[in-house]
Amino acid sequence: MNVENKLGASVYWKLPVTIVRGKGAKLWDINGNEYVDCMGGYGVSIVGHSNPRVVEAISRQAEKLITCHGSMYNDARAELLEKLVKIAPSGLDRVFLCNTGTESVESALKLVRKHTGKPDIIAMVGSYHGKTMGALSATWGVRYREPFEPLVPGFKFVPFGSPEKVVEAMTDRTGAVIVEPIQGEGGIHVAPEGYLKGLREICDQRGVLLVFDEVQTSFGRTGRMWASDHWGVVPDILCVAKAIAGGVPMGAMLAKDGIMSSFKTGDHTSTFGGNPLACAAASATIDFIIENHLPERAAELGSYFKDGLRALQAKYRIVREVRGLGLMLALESRFEIQNILLNAVKKGLLMLYCGRTVLRFLPPLVIEKEQITQTLSLLDGLLGEEERVRLPSKVGG
Ligand code: PMP
Repeated sequence: MNVENKLGASVYWKLPVTIVRGKGAKLWDINGNEYVDCMGGYGVSIVGHSNPRVVEAISRQAEKLITCHGSMYNDARAELLEKLVKIAPSGLDRVFLCNTGTESVESALKLVRKHTGKPDIIAMVGSYHGKTMGALSATWGVRYREPFEPLVPGFKFVPFGSPEKVVEAMTDRTGAVIVEPIQGEGGIHVAPEGYLKGLREICDQRGVLLVFDEVQTSFGRTGRMWASDHWGVVPDILCVAKAIAGGVPMGAMLAKDGIMSSFKTGDHTSTFGGNPLACAAASATIDFIIENHLPERAAELGSYFKDGLRALQAKYRIVREVRGLGLMLALESRFEIQNILLNAVKKGLLMLYCGRTVLRFLPPLVIEKEQITQTLSLLDGLLGEEERVRLPSKVGG
């Protein structure tokens, strides 16, 4: 810990734990203590930590070839592209491979401008799309944005959930609307019924592109392969990353052929984009997700988890709300949750936050039912403790 604190940039709020090993939904620290992992690497480790299929694919590929720039063809890359397009929402049949979620958004924003010739983008209040200058310009959080202004011009924010506000914000300079089907960093807010369909219709009427940022919601996380499947709406451009390569850095921007073709040689490239090692890991990850029916598993275990969280909501007055879909869940407290997060570490449970009052759960989709039961029981104790501190006079005994 000391070395990271001294030598690393201090840009992360860190839990006081040094993780050295992982398997499935379990992590171990440097002292051998075991944790149930409901952080899932911020939503990355959908197939579990050090998934044997992914480990085997990486090892095999590492022996063969680690790097191959996009200016040459590569077999591992071709294999992944075929697998990805096969499972992609229909019509999204061209892919730009990159390395992170931010980069996939960045490439989408550039493609919008190149394809439409229009500079403006409508984004949502509460959105998170990343922290490079372009992606940050589409990100709502004022504290992320303000120190780095001026950002890229042309971004407007409208309330999440209201197609009418999007219509009001549109001008003849609007190139695209960008939205997360379920806002992740913003607090796990699920698109209201009819919202995405409404956006699709508006965009079609106005000739504006619809971009879905599924960096956090894709690959089965929400109980369907793509969160947008819940509403049967297909975007023009889809941004993914996080889980795609089983923990190896990778992002991808998928678009309809007629849109991606606006990118010409040199318009947007990346030295590591489509790296064979990452591609091999991603192919193994996709195979594992499909063969093990992880979206269905997320739906089933997610509803068990959510029912358990709802029972805790009924039990504790400090719990304001439970939200989410599949294994993308949140429990909102009436108070700041920092102490709960820190106390949970001492009890062997790792959780995420999104905002000061929201506990977020993005466990690997291979998590066992017993591990969810264990999580709920630990949470019961943690919330009870917190309630005694926050509302001492209201707790009996
Ligand atoms: N978009 C969404 C919806 C995200 O949740 C994130 C990361 N939390 C990003 C973009 C940025 O991804 P990355 O951190 O990999 O750049």
